[in-house]
Amino acid sequence: MLYDNYTEDLLGLKGTELIKIEEVQNIKHIYLETKLEAKVCLHCYLPTKRVHSYRVQSINDTEIGGLRSVLHIKKRRYLCNCCGHTFYEKLSFLKKYQRHTQRVMAKVLNDYRYEHSTKRIAAMNHLTPGIATRIFDRVSYPRPKLPKVLSIDEFKGNAGRKFQCILTDPVNHKVLDILPAKRSEDIRAYFGNYSMKERRKVKYLIMDMSQQFRDIVLSCFPEAQIVTDKFHVCRYGVWAMEKVRKDFQKSLKPEDRKWFKRSRWIMISHARKLNEEEINQLTIMLSYSDRLRNAYCLKEAFFKFMESDNLEEAKERLRYLQLIVHVTNLPEFTSLYEMIKRWETYILRAFSSGYTNGYTEGCNNKIKVLKRNCYGVRNFNRFRNRILHMMAA
Ligand SMILES: [Zn+2]
Repeated sequence: MLYDNYTEDLLGLKGTELIKIEEVQNIKHIYLETKLEAKVCLHCYLPTKRVHSYRVQSINDTEIGGLRSVLHIKKRRYLCNCCGHTFYEKLSFLKKYQRHTQRVMAKVLNDYRYEHSTKRIAAMNHLTPGIATRIFDRVSYPRPKLPKVLSIDEFKGNAGRKFQCILTDPVNHKVLDILPAKRSEDIRAYFGNYSMKERRKVKYLIMDMSQQFRDIVLSCFPEAQIVTDKFHVCRYGVWAMEKVRKDFQKSLKPEDRKWFKRSRWIMISHARKLNEEEINQLTIMLSYSDRLRNAYCLKEAFFKFMESDNLEEAKERLRYLQLIVHVTNLPEFTSLYEMIKRWETYILRAFSSGYTNGYTEGCNNKIKVLKRNCYGVRNFNRFRNRILHMMAA
């Protein structure tokens, strides 16, 4: 024999000898036996080499050459000469009563790190969805430690309740936990599990302009400073512009209305990102109405404010925005400005701290893909574990 260690080195099945391989209907059947060795009796600790009987255990293994493979291992039952006790030999890659090798389970758990549905993972590993789920259900993620910078956001998960909360550490790019609901009492109860000492460690809380979250934060985290997420504020600027456009469109003939609607992104995009042709189109669009023109200038001033590099710049640009909001007097932008003023301290903190919910938004998008692939995940605990497993580094 040229190479006698192939069962361990090639197949990874330590302590076995290959008897035969059969391929039947695209399944590789691998027949193995163990080497006869003296084993220590589990009862009296004396060695024995006496065989009592054999039992064939069939287990699923990972694919070989793209084919499903099943191992048939002839296991020995030893008989102790001394105390008469019988016992089965142990194999490093195989647990008692197990029907899949450890590496099948490792493979399944790895597949669960992606947004695949259980049905798909089961098919990839030649298992039933029930078994794939059972393997995944061994995974559990404990309640996390609170970070210095904590981001809280809601998303439509439809697992149990319509909305769930996501907690992340945006600095270290970690999903910390998923909460089953977004009701205030539930969130308060969740944070109530942490001692005040632990909660005092949280210095910044990044979130949307939500009165509800703000009240929770103020009561649960005495040391935390609220930072409003910039991306969330930006959305309100887009909406203000869109409102003015939609309102204006109503006065147009149907074809013009269609053209306007189709080209709406030109008005929303940053002026500096437009090419010459797009600027020409924008000029034509804006020539239709003074209101539209004013709205466009306000939108640009708003985005300029949102893009400020530091606190001083942001303050200065906000003052300019205030000026032209007053001069142009468009209700859509007046209310946008009033909202900024209401949340001013928290919004300006986004510029001084540099924290955003960008990471959390990215997670929410991954969750969306997971939901789409799985047609929803109804069991909340499994949903939580799937998200935490998927986002775990
Ligand atoms: Zn014994």
